[in-house]
Amino acid sequence: MVKFPEASKRLFHNVYVCRSCNTKMRSIPKKINLKELKCKKCGKRNFRPIKKGVTKAGPT
Ligand SMILES: [Zn+2]
Repeated sequence: MVKFPEASKRLFHNVYVCRSCNTKMRSIPKKINLKELKCKKCGKRNFRPIKKGVTKAGPT
């Protein structure tokens, strides 16, 4: 779906996924490291970086 590197960067840069409910949240890495980011859905603070390009388009 995303064909342009810049668009991809804009979409996935600093985006993290909640480990509990898979909600996507945009934040800076510092907040993740300090666990300052709170999931808007489940309220937990465990996040992982989003996998680039795997959201909708898939590997193909
Ligand atoms: Zn969550």
